[in-house]
Amino acid sequence: MTSQAQPSCLIIGGGITGLIAGTQLQNTDVAVTILDKGRGIGGRFATRRLAHPNGSKGQFDYGMQRFEVSDRRFQAWVEQWLAEDVVVPWPETSARSAITYYRGRLSNRSIAKHLAQTLTVHTQTRVAAIRYQGDRWLAQTAQNQDFAAQSLLLAMPVPQILELFNTSVIALPSELKNGLEAIVYDPCIAVLALLAGPSQIPEAGLQCQDEALAWLACNQKKGISTIPAATLHATPEFSRTYWDAPEGDIAQHLLDAAVPWLGSPVVDYSIHRWQYSQPQTVYGDRYLSMPAPAPFVIAGDAFAPALPTRPTLNLENAVLSGLAAATYLLEQI
Ligand SMILES: Cc1cc2nc3c(=O)[nH]c(=O)nc-3n(C[C@H](O)[C@H](O)[C@H](O)COP(=O)(O)OP(=O)(O)OC[C@H]3O[C@@H](n4cnc5c(N)ncnc54)[C@H](O)[C@@H]3O)c2cc1C
Repeated sequence: MTSQAQPSCLIIGGGITGLIAGTQLQNTDVAVTILDKGRGIGGRFATRRLAHPNGSKGQFDYGMQRFEVSDRRFQAWVEQWLAEDVVVPWPETSARSAITYYRGRLSNRSIAKHLAQTLTVHTQTRVAAIRYQGDRWLAQTAQNQDFAAQSLLLAMPVPQILELFNTSVIALPSELKNGLEAIVYDPCIAVLALLAGPSQIPEAGLQCQDEALAWLACNQKKGISTIPAATLHATPEFSRTYWDAPEGDIAQHLLDAAVPWLGSPVVDYSIHRWQYSQPQTVYGDRYLSMPAPAPFVIAGDAFAPALPTRPTLNLENAVLSGLAAATYLLEQI
């Protein structure tokens, strides 16, 4: 129960940034409430199932695929997750690559579920507006419910944060607004393809040198699907060009490009459009503290000193940003 004296924080966005910050704050006795518009927790840690006509189900990770660790603070979290059997090394890398990649053992969304189990999280709760009233931050949801706390963390992709400022009729100082508007993300169209037989994707995942296809993963070889299930990620260029195209056209192009690796007919497919998949530009700092009457901070994978040298370090950036934002809030409240 939250007492009047206990510091409190509202976090909007239940992806890895919000969950890591929330865990850190709660461990320091802050009462944390996380609001997320998604049906499930995790944001870009996305996993879903597709039913095969024979009654079985294929499971797909279709957002974040695998991550690497370069920073000792993130390493400590990953070691804990390894000990708890929440993450495992990505199948083939530990043996043959200089880089060790990791993934969620049951699925990537299971990492988010693991973090969320000790936090107060409201899913299917879209925040329509924020405002400061009395000595509290208020988040008003699309269902007209109000949540209140002493401090506020926005942990969504930056264009969605700007949209929230807009609907909240909050005018940002032009320097801040320009800085945030300069942050751009690549789109990514994902195809989730259920296959009639085993895929020919040689490993759990494959970086593609193709105009349309950026990445292919075999969720069965990866160990999260009992039946053949492939995830296809389009290149940013293809995703931009085909963003509004009918799903049939998108699927045809991407599945045709993947024919050499699929090796079996496609039984069923589903398409997901990620408008903000990975940052193409970054803010330059680990978080942005807002000039407001009470502690208010913005964090996420675009809040980094420099673009990661490899896209598999984006997740680490999100984690480090969440940790830095939590530290800032703890100093303020
Ligand atoms: C296709 C794809 C492939 C990727 N591959 C990799 C990879 O291999 N390696 C890697 O390191 N990174 C990868 N990434 C990037 C990685 O997933 C992200 O860096 C990381 O997950 C960002 O987490 P986040 O918490 O900052 O944002 P998100 O996960 O986007 O979380 C933001 C949350 O905010 C919620 N939200 C937004 N608006 C509102 C609102 N108004 N009210 C309430 N909730 C709201 C959303 O529902 C969402 O859950 C990939 C991403 C994608 C999409």
